[in-house]
Amino acid sequence: MLGVILEKIVLVASRAVKPKDTHYYPEKNPDVRKKPEKFRGRHFINAETCIGCYACERACPIGAIIMVPTGLKRPRAMPVVNLGRCCYCGLCEDSCPTKEKSIYLTEDYDIVVEEVELTPLLDELWAKPVGDITKNPLVVKDLQKQKQQKEGK
Ligand code: SF4
Ligand code: SF4
Repeated sequence: MLGVILEKIVLVASRAVKPKDTHYYPEKNPDVRKKPEKFRGRHFINAETCIGCYACERACPIGAIIMVPTGLKRPRAMPVVNLGRCCYCGLCEDSCPTKEKSIYLTEDYDIVVEEVELTPLLDELWAKPVGDITKNPLVVKDLQKQKQQKEGK
């Protein structure tokens, strides 16, 4: 019994002098930015390649993806990801059918916000499509078609 008590005392004392395993962020400890291999962080969604197929939205096991209408004929909608709800499983990336993945998880985890209770409402907690949608091949094709139809009249 005494041995167990002594063991506990030694354990507590050793923890008291050991450096902390937790870090202040983002003010201190830049080393905390080192990520493990294959880290899955904030999504990148490419507006220039997404075909609006809904596969990522359907693959998401917890409804963290919403398809937002583009107002165009094609792609009809593009995904936005609620980073506060996401569990970073990567299934959306796996399901994306485009040659160069139109949605993928980057190594960026810097989504710190001060007001935790407000996080679902904060704009920066949504990963949105990035890039010039007018360069999207579907949009280019449809614009060309429209132009040809006009010229044909
Ligand atoms: S990483 Fe997983 S949980 Fe997050 S949006 Fe993609 S499929 Fe949904
Ligand atoms: S990101 Fe990929 S899976 Fe999601 S809608 Fe666009 S093309 Fe489809």
